[in-house]
Amino acid sequence: MTATQFTALFVSALLANTIIKLWLAYRQLDHVAAHRAEVPAAFREQIGIAAHHKAADYTRALVQFGALTVLFETALLLAFTLGGGIQWLSTWSSATFNGALVQGAAVIVAVLLLQSLLESPFDLYRTFNIEAHFGFNKMTLKLYLLDALKGLLLGAALGLPLLLGVLWLMERMGELWWLYVWGVWVAFNLLLLFIYPTYIAPLFNDFEPLQDEAQKARIEALLRKCGFAASGLFVMDGSKRSTHGNAYFTGFGKTKRIVFFDTLLERLTPSEVDAVLAHELGHFKHRHVLKRIALTFAVSLGFLWLLAQLLHAEWFYQGLGVTTQSTAMALLLFFMALPVFTFLLHPIASAYSRKHEFEADAYAAQQTDANELVNALVKLYQDNAKTLTPDPLYATFYESHPPAPIRIAHLQQLGADK
Ligand SMILES: [Zn+2]
Repeated sequence: MTATQFTALFVSALLANTIIKLWLAYRQLDHVAAHRAEVPAAFREQIGIAAHHKAADYTRALVQFGALTVLFETALLLAFTLGGGIQWLSTWSSATFNGALVQGAAVIVAVLLLQSLLESPFDLYRTFNIEAHFGFNKMTLKLYLLDALKGLLLGAALGLPLLLGVLWLMERMGELWWLYVWGVWVAFNLLLLFIYPTYIAPLFNDFEPLQDEAQKARIEALLRKCGFAASGLFVMDGSKRSTHGNAYFTGFGKTKRIVFFDTLLERLTPSEVDAVLAHELGHFKHRHVLKRIALTFAVSLGFLWLLAQLLHAEWFYQGLGVTTQSTAMALLLFFMALPVFTFLLHPIASAYSRKHEFEADAYAAQQTDANELVNALVKLYQDNAKTLTPDPLYATFYESHPPAPIRIAHLQQLGADK
């Protein structure tokens, strides 16, 4: 391949992605608007017209804003690559720092910092305009900035040693460096999984053991019934940032814990909480987390092998607007360009995730009452202003969870069959 050919390929793929993203956004806007006037029949008893309108308006605001973000990100990627941004940073880094390792790491860090700095106005707008307008945001600007600072320090503490280690291995380990890097990457991620619940999550939120004795007894009975051992039930102060509610499992082995957002417990009845927990237990029983992690590791091995093939290909660098060939540059360009070539795999990843959701729902229906899960989900759809009428194609592409009407119909069927 020549550099010109690769540039053409990159630009056409990027353009095609952008057009598809905007087209999907347009479809979603159109579909939601077309169904704004009436609450779908299946939800008419529980959800009022005002809540339905709110969901439509919230979806529209998010999708419109998402389309704007897509355009900006496309422009930014072009500016960094073909626009010469990365090449300029590389020249600056060579003139400022000594040693290939530090110079390379500096370019990567500079690009990451610039990227998040340039994208921060979008995040600020989403949080303090859109989320606030619809009554979801509970964050103060102070908390927002504190979060950003903590995230930055944490990223530096964990990410910098990893980056330097990876670059060092790429330089020193010969032709099979990608295997060594993969090993480090796997170890790093496993370490993160272990330390996340006990050391990282508490930096951002408070976790209190579940106090409500009656609820605790119910949940423990359900856990016993499902044969699940957890080292704790915790309530997280999710209400500190947002009114959106959730529940999740975290950690492995001894550090395994179940976390409920306070917002979820306040809103659901005890038997609805049971049903939501049973759904989460379904993910655990079907080993969804393990499967997902194994898949991620396998895919990253493939990507690292591919990067090894491109490392000495001049067309790869020049095709993306860079004349300096180095390991750091290859790493950076590869992971910036990669999403452009994998975007069309989105529907596969989403379908895989939706399959898991159906399996977890089926498990919940078996262990608890499917109708309680339906009630809980309807409350959550309403509270989160989640649209009940997504465009089918948009949902196929992006949604990790089945669209509301399909999911509810499935659960009602399971409840009726029981
Ligand atoms: Zn789930």
